[in-house]
Amino acid sequence: MALFSDNEFESITHFAGLLSEVRNVVITCHLSPDGDAMGSSLALARILANMGIKSRVVTPDEPNRNLQVLPGFENVLSFSRNQIAVERFLKEADMVICLDFNGLSRLSRLESAVAAVKCPRILIDHHLYPEKDSFAISISKPERSSTCSLLYSVLSAANLSQYIDTEAATCILGGMMTDTNNFSHNANHPEDYLIVSDLVERGADKNSLYNKLFNTFSANCLKLNGYAISKKMKVYPQYHAAMITLSRDELNYYHYSKGDTEGLVNKPLSIPGVIFSCYLREESEYIKVSMRSTGDFPVDIVCSESFGGGGHKNASGGEFHGTMEEAVSLFESLLPELNKRFINNQQ
Ligand code: 5GP
Ligand code: MN
Repeated sequence: MALFSDNEFESITHFAGLLSEVRNVVITCHLSPDGDAMGSSLALARILANMGIKSRVVTPDEPNRNLQVLPGFENVLSFSRNQIAVERFLKEADMVICLDFNGLSRLSRLESAVAAVKCPRILIDHHLYPEKDSFAISISKPERSSTCSLLYSVLSAANLSQYIDTEAATCILGGMMTDTNNFSHNANHPEDYLIVSDLVERGADKNSLYNKLFNTFSANCLKLNGYAISKKMKVYPQYHAAMITLSRDELNYYHYSKGDTEGLVNKPLSIPGVIFSCYLREESEYIKVSMRSTGDFPVDIVCSESFGGGGHKNASGGEFHGTMEEAVSLFESLLPELNKRFINNQQ
């Protein structure tokens, strides 16, 4: 299966060549790192270690605790908790590898420190519209289902797959599973199944990853999700849309901790006729917006046009600076137009 063009293959060879010269690598990923961001970062750190190259994984903020199933998680340094150490690692780095995001602004508070490094920044990512000017080498493949799956292919093309041990395989498989909701969306890529087969061969335990990443919840978390669906979900059948909102007080009542509502935004898509879904969660400084869709409905366009964000066609996010009521009004005001632009014109 030819996964890379000649130009892309040249970028990969260039990247592999640079790797043979570096000693101190920093690996970083986007704000609120998800399974794909953490999986690709930890896999690469492990692989570099197996190659004899020192690296540190640094994140803008703390990753969700449920990702601790990924080997190496305990060594991740967040900028929000370890600013001085992260700045020092970045100053000493001779390469910064950016995984699972397309532009430096996705690093939030960590942006200026990463923008200031003098060493090459390398991008390996699957989001649309990469900011290629910010990177010495960009390996960007929006058609791939996860950065983890792309990373595997990059390593194979660079003849480095012998360094993928059980721990790295576990991280790669974990990221592939989380970005596709356990191979249930964006999951018709034949190459992914060849990769899974090889990762399982290398010792990754898919059964255990499924249980830990998809089927482990605290009682409070289950209750919060039940409450959100039973009391806070609004369905707009005429617009093929649904929305769930959770205020700070509601989250506090159920002792919300980061990651507890991961996947909630997908639930309304199981209702026949609902094509896109929006989840608004009140954070201390803004309303976090998450959107998901099925088929051709582009939530990345909605998030970038109206909520200062972006992402993928079927999974995007953003931020709204204002009250929950204002965020809800904005979302509801968009519905007739979105319906005309992206749904009714196709039927
Ligand atoms: P989530 O809803 O899980 O936070 O994010 C879904 C997807 O949208 C992820 O691929 C994530 O990278 C992207 N995303 C989430 N929030 C933002 C944002 O504020 N800006 C941009 N550009 N992308 C976002
Ligand atoms: Mn991803």
